[in-house]
Amino acid sequence: MPHHHVITCRNFHSGTWHDDPADTIERHNPATGELVAIAARSSAADVDAAVASAATAFRSWRKTLPADRARYLHDLAAACAPRVDEMAASITREQGKPLDEARGEVRKFVTALHYYAEEAQRVFGRTIPNDTAGFTSIVEKEPIGPVAGIVPWNYPIELIGWKLAGATAAGCTIVLKPSEYTPGCAQILSECVAEVFPPGVVNIVHGDGRTGQALVEHPAIAKIAFTGSMRTGQAISRSVNGITPLSLELGGSCPMIVTERADIGAAITGAARRSFRNAGQICIAINRIYVHDAVHDEFVAGLAAAADALKVADGIEVPSADVGSMTMDETYQRTLDHIADARDRGARIVAGGGPVTELSPGLFLRPTVVDDAADEALVMHEETFGPLVGVARFTDLDDAIERANAAPGGLAAYAYTDDTRETFALARELDFGNVAVNNVDAGIMNAPYGGRRESGFGSEHGHEGLESYLQLKHIRLRHGAR
Ligand code: NAD
Repeated sequence: MPHHHVITCRNFHSGTWHDDPADTIERHNPATGELVAIAARSSAADVDAAVASAATAFRSWRKTLPADRARYLHDLAAACAPRVDEMAASITREQGKPLDEARGEVRKFVTALHYYAEEAQRVFGRTIPNDTAGFTSIVEKEPIGPVAGIVPWNYPIELIGWKLAGATAAGCTIVLKPSEYTPGCAQILSECVAEVFPPGVVNIVHGDGRTGQALVEHPAIAKIAFTGSMRTGQAISRSVNGITPLSLELGGSCPMIVTERADIGAAITGAARRSFRNAGQICIAINRIYVHDAVHDEFVAGLAAAADALKVADGIEVPSADVGSMTMDETYQRTLDHIADARDRGARIVAGGGPVTELSPGLFLRPTVVDDAADEALVMHEETFGPLVGVARFTDLDDAIERANAAPGGLAAYAYTDDTRETFALARELDFGNVAVNNVDAGIMNAPYGGRRESGFGSEHGHEGLESYLQLKHIRLRHGAR
């Protein structure tokens, strides 16, 4: 059973927790309104103390052997394993996703720890031919330094995991800033970290955007790993003036193309899953679908039925629900605005369309499909971040690809077709960092994951994710004093 106490989230650095500051942020369950967490709103001085802890620990952590770092990460995974249910309950109560889905998220977090534990041992430098006899050139990869890891609320622990595991596996230390909407699981994580890691390797500061800004502007931070909105990503990129290495995993508007030669049943299942899971609050959620005219009616009827069949409920009461409460008033309102906008521009609402009134004032929206949405409708080019998907028709595949590529951002795109020529045209021409054909799981742990254009740059996952925390050094050795 999930516990019903309020989690007090304290800053964690130098291996211990620090006094509750005077300034705090309260988090209420968006499904019920109950108070679920209280977190510090950390000042620049709190951030400074956490960064100092990371900088001090870096001096020795950078010298640890990869095999030792692997052991710490495997041990952290073991320390977190008994707390999966507790972390999941905290996620559901703060973020809204149903409990079973939250448990799945925590398990993926644990998998990321194991993955980078192994990958830590696969960092290789090289020797290169020299231009002069009697010299050897070695290129080594060294940890870059203390990292700032800033994450959003939609996957509160999984996204922390990618950054924590990648950075520490590479030999970096890290200061994490969880979202002010989802601080609870980071507090539970800090308790696991304290059991396992040497002091200062993993540090957590709580707070809102001001805290995040103090962290990214701190002069001792050697790299910023940010996941969040385009707006914040742009603000960070301006404030660091192009000097501090930065990776930005931002939002976008993700398209799906369903051709005349697709398995329509599979396309419907995929679309329903990737449009509405986590109430559509996924950076790689399907926002807009282009369907060939010849299969349009069958596809839309199936998708509308699939959307109507999804169970919307409080994720604590109904752990196996398909869709829980949304997280923020702002995105709830934006979703309603996007529905109204699409309708005003001539779209038909074929599933959902508004709140689940019995569950009000919780932020529950019915999974919504709008058909024949105009290209100008907001849902067809802006990230809604809610349980809404727009559908439009096409007759020429090149035209569909062009429309798919036209919206800002380039994170993920999806396509369904059983035709080989179409498969390759779609895979090659869709201008996105991740393209999934005949499936909707665009990200796997050992492949690089990142966006293009306004969706940011840099990769997480895979070996490239680890490399992003490393810097090169050329060492030129003369064989003897002269
Ligand atoms: P957000 O940008 O509002 O906040 C993200 C984090 O940045 C939070 O911890 C916040 O406190 C902090 N922050 C805010 N202002 C800051 C500033 N000026 N300097 C430093 N830090 C600051 O985003 P959100 O609403 O929490 O998350 C939703 C967004 O995240 C969506 O756009 C979604 O697409 C994106 N996202 C992207 C990915 C990806 O992998 N590309 C994954 C998940 C979410």
